[in-house]
Amino acid sequence: MNKKTIRDYDYRGKRTLIRVDFNVPTDDAGNITDDTRITAALPTINHLVDSGARLIVMTHFGRPKNGPDPKYALDRIATRFSERLGRPVKKLDKVVGPEVEAAVAAMKDGDVVLLENVRFEPGETKDDPALTEKMAALAELYVNDAFGSSHRAHCSTHGVARALPSAAGFLLEKEIEALGAVVEAPEKPFTAMIGGAKVSSKIGVIKHLMNLADTIVIGGGMAFTFLKAQGLPIGKSLCEDDFLQVAKDAMAEAKRRNVRFILPSDVVIADAFENGANRRTVDAGDIPDGWIGMDIGPRTIAEIEADLDRAAMVVWNGPMGVFEMENFSQGTFAIAKKLATVKAKAVIGGGDSVAAVNQAGVADSIYHISTGGGASLEMLEGQELPGIAALTDR
Ligand code: ADP
Ligand code: MG
Repeated sequence: MNKKTIRDYDYRGKRTLIRVDFNVPTDDAGNITDDTRITAALPTINHLVDSGARLIVMTHFGRPKNGPDPKYALDRIATRFSERLGRPVKKLDKVVGPEVEAAVAAMKDGDVVLLENVRFEPGETKDDPALTEKMAALAELYVNDAFGSSHRAHCSTHGVARALPSAAGFLLEKEIEALGAVVEAPEKPFTAMIGGAKVSSKIGVIKHLMNLADTIVIGGGMAFTFLKAQGLPIGKSLCEDDFLQVAKDAMAEAKRRNVRFILPSDVVIADAFENGANRRTVDAGDIPDGWIGMDIGPRTIAEIEADLDRAAMVVWNGPMGVFEMENFSQGTFAIAKKLATVKAKAVIGGGDSVAAVNQAGVADSIYHISTGGGASLEMLEGQELPGIAALTDR
């Protein structure tokens, strides 16, 4: 990796600003329903605290629109964070300004403060240099451990990373190593499985991975645009007619590059878009009028599994079917379970794909599960993420 990591600095006595992603899910009453994002950052935070840093933690939470909004204040997050960390966390009511400066000036080695929601400052999402300057003035070092926000050029992810000597935290480092390997120099044979709803949202990924993959698997709703582009009937399946030519071009490009292109050869179809609908499994060319393709069929699953047995590295983005409905979840779960047993290093990115792997109960056996939906998608498109690019070079 060509960026500094947290192991590259000495933190004793140093005011250290760290950007984490504590944007946790909550219920309607504002209770935290899942604190995985908080616990995930603890290895980095403990490392810094144990090294004697004076730690100033910042995160966004929700999407407050016009400045401070009590609904998105970090009080409950601070409480949970403190419980999980097993140390006091002083929660501040501002992001920058005199109160924050005074609190930071009073810190001792190993102390932890949590700034208020960075998005309460209107300059944050504009990468406003004036806000960056105030944030940077609080600290001597900066650590980014918020991969899921690193595709945004905001003050807390990008501005401050340039203003201070900076480094990737453990979580970010792991993401860069795993996703970076996939998009730069994957181990071969390399299989890219792309699914989910739309060709339009994944075409950038397909195009970039086409340069690197030995096999491309297309599943999910987007497969039907490809099947239609081959002249097959798709009934009422999801289709983006504007992308038929794009799909044709992608298949032609795969042929030219000698990339194996796996489309579903059989599909599970339904007569309505609901779990209780009538369903059957048919060949991909035999979808009757009015029926909807909902999942990949058993022959397709077997074909993909055989390919995964040969692969050395796999990346998967986007479910193979409408996995939220139990009757159409088999393709997605079969692939998730397969990835947990193969020798290939499997890297999984995308909000729904990660949810599927968790639901399949195999997350612990997967080589790398990305924490960032949009950020992982942009990396798989071959883009440089502003929050990573801004970190100090090694
Ligand atoms: P990710 O979040 O992993 O990147 P996407 O957001 O692109 O994935 O796609 C996930 C969505 O795709 C899911 O809600 C799933 O129901 C939908 N999907 C998968 N297969 C189909 C299909 N055959 N028809 C319609 N929607 C589908
Ligand atoms: Mg999604």
